[in-house]
Amino acid sequence: MDILKNYIDGCYQAPINNRYLNNIEPATGEVYGKIPDSDIDDLELAVIAAEKALPAWQSMPLEQRADILYAIAKGIECQLEALALAESIDNGKPVSLARIVDIPRAASNFKFFAHACSQFSSESHSMTNTATNYTLRQSIGIVGCISPWNLPLYLFSWKIAPALAAGNCVIAKPSEITPKTAAMLGQICQDAGLPKGVLNILHGTGSGVGSAICTHKKIKAISFTGGTKTGAAIATQIAPQFKKLSLELGGKNPALVFADCDFDDTVEQVFKASFANQGQICLCASRIYIEQSLYEKFKVALVAKAKALKPQDPLEKSAKMGAIVSKAHLDKILNYIELAKEEGGILLTGGQQVTLSERCRNGYFLAPTIFEGLTNQAKCNQEEIFGPVITLQSFSSDEEALSLANESEYGLAATIWTNNLSRTHLLTEQLNTGIVWVNCWLLRDLRTPFGGMKHSGLGREGGNEAMRFFTETKNVCIKY
Ligand code: NAD
Repeated sequence: MDILKNYIDGCYQAPINNRYLNNIEPATGEVYGKIPDSDIDDLELAVIAAEKALPAWQSMPLEQRADILYAIAKGIECQLEALALAESIDNGKPVSLARIVDIPRAASNFKFFAHACSQFSSESHSMTNTATNYTLRQSIGIVGCISPWNLPLYLFSWKIAPALAAGNCVIAKPSEITPKTAAMLGQICQDAGLPKGVLNILHGTGSGVGSAICTHKKIKAISFTGGTKTGAAIATQIAPQFKKLSLELGGKNPALVFADCDFDDTVEQVFKASFANQGQICLCASRIYIEQSLYEKFKVALVAKAKALKPQDPLEKSAKMGAIVSKAHLDKILNYIELAKEEGGILLTGGQQVTLSERCRNGYFLAPTIFEGLTNQAKCNQEEIFGPVITLQSFSSDEEALSLANESEYGLAATIWTNNLSRTHLLTEQLNTGIVWVNCWLLRDLRTPFGGMKHSGLGREGGNEAMRFFTETKNVCIKY
């Protein structure tokens, strides 16, 4: 049995209350480990450690701080295989995906912010013959980072790396559903020479230690990625404390496919955008809008690819589709599939749980699922399902495509598939999403702003946006 510990003050420590949660492997449905069910007492230890470590970390020369972050990236790379395996077991994602995407990108996050550390600069505003203003961007102090289960180490490091780069001490909580790689990160940081207390990793539930991190008076900023409802609860809880808050929340992302697209490439990319990581990426496309003249041809090609995609044991090298992360999440997705049928949806493929043999006979597998015939206002087109379920609709003009895409409470990411340049410019200006990909999906440049509009979040991560979030701004005005 794999029993995890918290990482506090540079040591692995059991939770003070000695309470644990089960860690379940989604591919088998079996409990394979225990996770600390930490509470406020563990948090207090982490806050004391962070307070102690803060002055030295804040005043460490930037180059030295950058070297440590770079060494963490190298440490992740050295443990690529072990981390990819752990991610696959914890999350149910194909081990090949973890090896190619999750773990290398986690290393890239640390490398990127190792550089950002020494490249980040602030502004100066001169008032001719009167005064000069310069802006200081100083570390905030102790900050909290809370992340979800879908891209565990990738998103955990996406928050921690900039927070550390900006000179903060961090108290971080991974999802209780996928805690393993976060637990392994503690040792990697220690080996890389990160001073003790600078990063503290606590495990446990959202309503327990997660909520305690958000409301702790000595934690001055919260960076949260997760569901929209959770984000709203956190915002409500901490509003009276006026702490900095970054929210990366849910999505219901439209893909707009035009008749002039590169057909084969678009089918391939939209398929990937729909079903990668079992559809459990906040950026996955879930509402596919296809120009009327291309609708049948595109539908036939997409459905054929979905039919050919079979869930497999995620530990098998050839697996392209793994397990859904938990029984509760599988049930939620299956409920939406039933709802789609009640709402008048026509099932084109999938729609049912898949039973595998042997090791995976009790795992949480679901066939890639495609519906058509639902109205844009149907719940299945408006609520986030966060699984391998997509819907197809047709449109007959650019205006209609835009209006269908924007008819959503969410505003995270959109994709456009066309070769018409002026259409591209017009649509990208008018789409209400924080990210627009044109003829590509999930192509990431870590310098770019990342985040969503409307119920998809508040603020942006990435590049200087993250460095600004994790620093306090102070303007200094010097009169001549
Ligand atoms: P979740 O909101 O249930 O949990 C996310 C994290 O918050 C977990 O660590 C959880 O323990 C913690 N948490 C839960 N309640 C809390 C509370 N009251 N106070 C503090 N922490 C609390 O989300 P999830 O199910 O883990 O993740 C799936 C969701 O995340 C989806 O909605 C998905 O779209 C979203 N997501 C968004 C992005 C993005 O960048 N916008 C990226 C990945 C996932």
